[in-house]
Amino acid sequence: MRELATLAKYPFLHDTREYIKDYGPTIPELLHEPPFERARLIGIQRLDNALKHRDVGVRSLANDTDCIMEILSYPIARMVAVCIGDSFFNKRYALSEAYHAYSSLLTEPPGFVLSVAHELKLNVSHDTEKNSMSIYFKDYLRNAPTRYKEWKMVNRGVKAGYLSISQKDLARLLLESLRERLNQELLERGCDHTVSEVFSADIHRIQNILAMQKEKTEATPFGTLAIEKLPPCMKDIVSAIQSGENVPHMGRFALVAFLNSLKLTPSEVLKLFSTAPDYQEDKTRYQVEHITGASSATRYKCPGCDKMRTYGICPVEKMDDLCRKIRHPLSYYTTKWRQEKRKP
Ligand code: SF4
Repeated sequence: MRELATLAKYPFLHDTREYIKDYGPTIPELLHEPPFERARLIGIQRLDNALKHRDVGVRSLANDTDCIMEILSYPIARMVAVCIGDSFFNKRYALSEAYHAYSSLLTEPPGFVLSVAHELKLNVSHDTEKNSMSIYFKDYLRNAPTRYKEWKMVNRGVKAGYLSISQKDLARLLLESLRERLNQELLERGCDHTVSEVFSADIHRIQNILAMQKEKTEATPFGTLAIEKLPPCMKDIVSAIQSGENVPHMGRFALVAFLNSLKLTPSEVLKLFSTAPDYQEDKTRYQVEHITGASSATRYKCPGCDKMRTYGICPVEKMDDLCRKIRHPLSYYTTKWRQEKRKP
């Protein structure tokens, strides 16, 4: 079994779950008993920090009690997150837990980072003589932010299906893999009635904050854009970017070209990308200006619905009646505008 401080820093590990199973309180004890009040408070703090800072926060792990409270706060935060019942928030919370782990992994010995990678089912190996790590290309592609030049596979060099990778970059891939896993786990769980009762005040408070944020985004469109009139495909891409997901290149391309057709300036488009976890203004500006023709000879157009489907960025299950009548995402937006104008 790993040290308590390690379990506290990485509460998603199998060892941490085993520790709670063997030595932790029962769920009713965790939810009601006074000795676990601090764990409950930290659990809510994790969620508040996720909302405000996109990191669940660093707390003292100076003694065993600190570590145990930190460990127990994790299942509490997850149970409450499920009861908040907001997919945007779940993504945000999953990203914040993953980001928290990423920051700690940067300073761990390579052997530990490797063991986390194996637990997350990434095929990674370590050459102790050369002190170098490599990752199987499929696992790399699944988790790398390939929208950035330095992450493109051609710039990495592949040998027998493996790419060499630094510890920092491996930690970045683990962030993505963990974010995806946590988000999926939250989606699969149902809200426990007792949890929603015990934490009803915090659940309502966070739900209200989320509702206000949503209202603000919809009522104050950036530039001349009205978010509520966006087609389902663009809404999905915007929401993925804003919650910090790793949006594929084609999705980002389609969104930038779409917004450019609506006459948003590159700066207005950049505002939208600025919430991404590894947002780099200079690189994103370069890409946006290239797509919009501000720094290149070509002004790219947003793909039509057929192409969007081919690229896998038309969420077919979310298509509505209007989607079925149009053949281009821009037609969706303009039709919505016309419908709005005709309203008495
Ligand atoms: S049908 Fe067209 S407008 Fe509707 S979601 Fe798909 S790509 Fe977007």
